[in-house]
Formats: sequence, structure tokens, C-alpha cells
Amino acid sequence: MGTIELTKRQGQILEIVRTEGPITGEQIADQLGLTRATLRPDLAILTMAGFLEARPRVGYFYAGKKNGQIFGEQLRKMLIKEHKAVPIVIAENTSVYDAIVTMFMEDVGTIFVVKDHGILAGVVSRKDLLKVAIGKQDTHEVPVSLTMTRMPNIVTLTGDETVYDGAKKLIDYQIDSIPVVKPLDDSGRTLEVIGRFTKTTIAKIFVELGENKEV
Ligand code: ADP
Repeated sequence: MGTIELTKRQGQILEIVRTEGPITGEQIADQLGLTRATLRPDLAILTMAGFLEARPRVGYFYAGKKNGQIFGEQLRKMLIKEHKAVPIVIAENTSVYDAIVTMFMEDVGTIFVVKDHGILAGVVSRKDLLKVAIGKQDTHEVPVSLTMTRMPNIVTLTGDETVYDGAKKLIDYQIDSIPVVKPLDDSGRTLEVIGRFTKTTIAKIFVELGENKEV
């Protein structure tokens, strides 16, 4: 598209298609008080230069919108189950000290706390652990269950939700990490942890899209 100079009339056509498209050549001509034949060369130039897209029997689309739309459509097609990472989990009675060690060893900022059979009990983040660490309590004695955010207040994702849903939740709830879960009953409270979705996951997808790889 880059450097071509648009005439005034081509600019008007673009504006009409941008606000009203899809629209036929006939309708554009009507609006400008011109004939279809007069417009034909302009429409051909705009289409060849990539400003407009023409579809038979439908009309002209503004192509400028397209990239954003394609990107959005792609994000909405990518499923959490195809992009989730392995969850790092600990038991409820794990000490804050051991949770901090696990964070360093596993190189994560959030750990999921589980009951028997990997059922989600809570989430413990860096700040949750720092709160205990700067207090008077002994980090060896305090279990993570005392400082974690607990069920049912945990924001979760299922494998069939989309990467867009996941990114939206991270932003809306201002968190870094979301457990990917499989509900084991209809109560919505018995959730088996099967993965994690984090800001790093999104950064990876973004880089892959930037490299035009298949994701
Ligand atoms: P950090 O503590 O490193 O800033 P977050 O911003 O993710 O990490 O955590 C902020 C708070 O939100 C913490 O108290 C944490 O327990 C809680 N939290 C983190 N992830 C979730 C989640 N998926 N659902 C509910 N609460 C969460």
C-alpha cells in the first residue's frame, strides 16, 4: 500500500466504504453523484493497492480493518487447551518457606494449591508470600493455606475457552496466572487443575504470531 498518493475522489470513496461497507460500486457512484463507469478506474486502483477488497455480489470492503479483524479472529480460534503450560502445584499444608523455594526452583511467580487428587484449593502469588515474609511469623511454620487466595474466589479457565478469553481475564482481574481446570461435577467447585495460563503464555503466542509461525 505504502506510497501511492490518493486523489480527492479516491479518498471520498475510501471514506464511504470505510463507514458503510460492504457497499456496491453502484451505491458508491450514487452517493458521489457519478456514474459507475466513471468510478471504475478509481475502484480498480484502490483494490489493486490493497485499500479495498471486492467480493462478487457483495461489494467493496475496507481492507484497512482486515488485519485487526484477522488477528482477533485468530485469537478467538486458539484454544486454551492447545496453549496451556504445565501447572506447578503444592499441597495446602506446605510451608510458606517451601513455597518460596518452589517458586525459585520452578521459575514461576504463582503456584496453585491443591487438595487430594489435584483439586484446586487456592492460588498463592509472590505478594501473598511476601506478606508473610515481612511479618513477624516464621515462614517455616505458616502453611500457604493461610495466605493464599482460596476457592471459590479463584478465576479459572477451561480448555475449551479461547486465548482471547484468557487474556481478557488476566487483564480484567489484574492477575498474572490462571489455573486451567476440568470441572469434576456440576457444582463448579470441584475443579481438577490440568494446566496454567499466564502472561508469559501470551507473550509467547505474540512472538510466534510476530514470526508468522503457525500457532
Ligand atoms: P503478584 O503477587 O506477583 O503481583 P498477582 O498480581 O497475580 O501476582 O496476584 C495478586 C493477587 O491476586 C494475589 O493475592 C493472588 O493470590 C491473587 N490471584 C492470583 N491469581 C489469581 C487467580 N487466578 N484467581 C484469583 N486470585 C488470584
